[in-house]
Amino acid sequence: MVETRNAQAEIGVIGGSGFYSFLDDVTEVTVETPYGPPSDSLFLGEIAGRRVAFLPRHGRKHHIPPHRINYRANLWALRSLGARQVLGPCAVGGLRPEYGPGTLLVPDQLVDRTKSRPQTYYDGEPLPDGQEPNVLHLAFADPYCPAGRKAAVAAARGRDWEPVDGGTLVVIEGPRFSTRAESRWHAAQGWSVVGMTGHPEAVLARELALCYTSLTLVTDLDAGAETGEGVSHEEVLRVFAANVDRLRSVLFDAVAGLPAPDGRGCLCAGALDGLDPGFELP
Ligand SMILES: [Zn+2]
Repeated sequence: MVETRNAQAEIGVIGGSGFYSFLDDVTEVTVETPYGPPSDSLFLGEIAGRRVAFLPRHGRKHHIPPHRINYRANLWALRSLGARQVLGPCAVGGLRPEYGPGTLLVPDQLVDRTKSRPQTYYDGEPLPDGQEPNVLHLAFADPYCPAGRKAAVAAARGRDWEPVDGGTLVVIEGPRFSTRAESRWHAAQGWSVVGMTGHPEAVLARELALCYTSLTLVTDLDAGAETGEGVSHEEVLRVFAANVDRLRSVLFDAVAGLPAPDGRGCLCAGALDGLDPGFELP
């Protein structure tokens, strides 16, 4: 275990353990935050000359369920290492028959159906060091970074994996999957895919003026679209494993295609312009 002091990254990737385990030169660092520990150590490596910090969202043993992930600590930790752009790959269910297993969808919209998760830094609650976050209401009409989405879509095309460019990710509380009625309702709203971790990950990134891009991999047709038994955990794992190699390739190319750290001209970079957070950003 290495001390964090000199560790630096410019890009964060929150995903499964498969994304860092094969890098040649990885430095493991532990990061403390005012919100407690993140899901795991962060793993620093380099892709195409870019310094990247990987964070296993569910912990390296995949032992943290979606509703118990310390999202605030995760985003805070990434920013404290220097990351300003974050890629968040995740497994989802498809809500349309044409979005079958193996579909890659880069959403441009988000619907929050979670229930129990802390989802803001700006709640007026003092931090352990005495700083007091102000109560802020940030714009979130466009929840994802346009530059990051562009890089993700281009990366997928470069690997001959034509992605669905845009769509709505609805995030449910979990850890259970949807009922048929819920799934039919989600589909009837015109939403595209359903997952369990995309919120509050995206909004917390925005609250720290981080760029955030979601890459969703469809592992199953959600309950309403399915005539059989509905979703099973085994099926999700099987399809994810079958696609993890090419998803990793796409992620690496997306990292390479992100704007330079000082070249961020997007809305995310200016999310806090003219606002006083009440505390020093990490
Ligand atoms: Zn951005």
